[in-house]
Amino acid sequence: MHSWPRPYLPPALDVITHPDLTLTDSYSKKTYVVSDANISMYVCGITPYDATHLGHAATYVVFDLINRYLKASGKEVHFVENVTDIDEPLFERAKRDGIRWEDLGKSQVELFQADMTELRVIPPAPYLGVIESMPAIINAVARLVDSGKTYSLAGDIYLDLAQDPSALSKLPIDIESAIEIFSQRGGDPQREGKRHPLDPLLWSCPKNDEPSWDAPFGKGRPGWHIECVAIALNNLPNASRSSITIQGGGSDLIFPHHYMTGVQARCLTGEEFAAIYLHGGMIGLNGEKMSKSLGNLVFVSKLISEGKDPMAIRLALINRHYRNDVMWSDQLLTQAESFLRRISESLAKSDVAPTKPIIQEMVNALADDLDAPRVLRALEQWCSETESGSHGGEAGELARALDLYLGIAI
Ligand code: ZN
Repeated sequence: MHSWPRPYLPPALDVITHPDLTLTDSYSKKTYVVSDANISMYVCGITPYDATHLGHAATYVVFDLINRYLKASGKEVHFVENVTDIDEPLFERAKRDGIRWEDLGKSQVELFQADMTELRVIPPAPYLGVIESMPAIINAVARLVDSGKTYSLAGDIYLDLAQDPSALSKLPIDIESAIEIFSQRGGDPQREGKRHPLDPLLWSCPKNDEPSWDAPFGKGRPGWHIECVAIALNNLPNASRSSITIQGGGSDLIFPHHYMTGVQARCLTGEEFAAIYLHGGMIGLNGEKMSKSLGNLVFVSKLISEGKDPMAIRLALINRHYRNDVMWSDQLLTQAESFLRRISESLAKSDVAPTKPIIQEMVNALADDLDAPRVLRALEQWCSETESGSHGGEAGELARALDLYLGIAI
């Protein structure tokens, strides 16, 4: 699958020092120092049945900040993202709208790519769909079947969690909550015949007129978690301490999706899947959770078609600590628009406040667990100083730094 166009990245200034990036793991809550020279980052992509809403955009902007920081500090970053281009919600939406699921998926992937381009998110390489990754996924399921860690139920293949010593002992939440959330997010804990309610589906045998693929263990299609394990392991070079460096997504993926990818990868390789699991908080709207069922999604493409500046949308999304949930409102966007105008007017002045110290402060704040609010406070301070007549800076180097580190092109 083609990725979207790569934005230009200005070079980092020689005089700026880049501390190692520290990030907080969602499961252990421990701080991890990203010190390796080669970083592999896998971020879970969309299921293409609806346009990019602000929750998606916020997540991809978080990992874009990480990607930009690591690249600016001289690291080699291998960034892979998937598209879940076969999934029940996609089939259901296509059926409801009377169109082919393949056409719906293709059109929504194109829209997503256009949104990512507008938001200046660095594209993954490669950007991969499940369909085109089927040989790697079938191979992963076959290895699990051959290892005796699976069982079959009416043609469907499940992973037997009891085969992984820590799968059930290290759940991030209590078992009752885990079963309830598993049920809400694609799992089938109540199905009769399962050895454990949380055993994840690896391969689903053909049902109704859903698409299916030939495999040595029977025709069907893959479960959700194994697709990401297979795509990541097949396309990211192994890091020194574990299979990949960063596994990322929105906080709604902490359980079950990323928990299950970790278990399945351990069953496959005997190693931890990722050195760090990182998650962005959710975006709500006017006091409520933003969700399809509530019908209150705000789409990036709609905001842009209404004439909103994509850079203001990006700035509004950056303005939070990445782990925090945030309520979206028109006011949030209006504030970002006016802040962007203020930065732009300050940069246009013939004399500006010193720029190297503010760039170094931005870099230090980003390195400190991606403290974006601190970055924006420093920028606000620089604008105030410039407005008060402080001078000695070079507007061009700050503009390039905003582009490089924050993806904000002015
Ligand atoms: Zn995933």
